[in-house]
Amino acid sequence: MLVIMKKEASKEEVCLVEQTINRLGFCTNTVKNSTRTIISITGNPDQAIVYYLENLPGVAEIIKATKSYILVTKQFHSGKSVIKVGSAEIGGSELAVIAGPCAVESKEQVLKTAAVVAKSGAKFFRGGAFKPRTSPYSFQGLGEDGLKMLAEVRERFGLNIITEAMDERGVDLVIKYADCVQIGARNMQNFSLLKYVGRLNIPVLLKRGMSATLDEFLLAAEYIMSEGNHNIILCERGIRTFSTHARNTLDLSIVPAVQNISHLPIVVDPSHGTGRNYMVAPLAKASVAVGADGLMLEVHPCPEEALCDGAQALTFDQYTKLYEEVLEIRKVSCEKTANLTM
Ligand code: PEP
Ligand code: MN
Repeated sequence: MLVIMKKEASKEEVCLVEQTINRLGFCTNTVKNSTRTIISITGNPDQAIVYYLENLPGVAEIIKATKSYILVTKQFHSGKSVIKVGSAEIGGSELAVIAGPCAVESKEQVLKTAAVVAKSGAKFFRGGAFKPRTSPYSFQGLGEDGLKMLAEVRERFGLNIITEAMDERGVDLVIKYADCVQIGARNMQNFSLLKYVGRLNIPVLLKRGMSATLDEFLLAAEYIMSEGNHNIILCERGIRTFSTHARNTLDLSIVPAVQNISHLPIVVDPSHGTGRNYMVAPLAKASVAVGADGLMLEVHPCPEEALCDGAQALTFDQYTKLYEEVLEIRKVSCEKTANLTM
């Protein structure tokens, strides 16, 4: 449930609403965005609470958001959200490129890759230390040792680190070493994990579940926001369909669909979205053309030796060439949009 305060509501009025909710035994998360203050009520508030709140001074509206989302939408938020990740941002005028290997395998592997990523001009480095693998016998990641290697990448190259956590313990470790925690496709509906990262003050890159609808995807983001953390970047990474020519079907229509409803930035991951090296570049370009705020790209010094996802990894040369091409496309589409709005 959400209490939308009037634009002119005073601090005291907001405080009175919060105190009333707390007195009734529920928790609140208050967010002041560019237009107004929104107080979300967590727990299981019932209709009775509405009677206590609706006549308090400064209250504009009470929304029962049990089935739908509200904080992710543009309804009470003017403009796009730009999310600060370390020393850079995602959702602003610059295309955000997040590149690196699927998994952190060794210090040499990440440092070599990071040198290429930093040289290209990209600001974000990825690499999993905790890997959600289909088989328990596959490489599971280096854990905290891997995170330490990522921290060294940040130190040496100034790249901002985005890395996955699969559970609460993993999140606690990731926040020690990285700038943004990734919630992977398999955990998009791990609601307790979403609530956990929702209570933290670290940006979250939320990947779309393998068979998630737009509503389910946005509701997952809403879970995080309803706990108070509004620093979310959405990521399309392909969904499972009956097609077998690619690992997943990259659903680029979700980019304008998200932008139509939400103020959150959305990046596209054509590496997991296709699973095939030769498809990554064309789909990366298409993602930028369709208006994505950024790209997540897997890059490896020697894809055929990768411990994870080698078939979709770009070589250094492929990555460098692609980086330049996508910047060109971004430039053209920004110029076109600027002309249209002039
Ligand atoms: C990843 O980014 O390495 C990953 C496992 O992605 P996804 O959750 O999209 O499969
Ligand atoms: Mn991968």
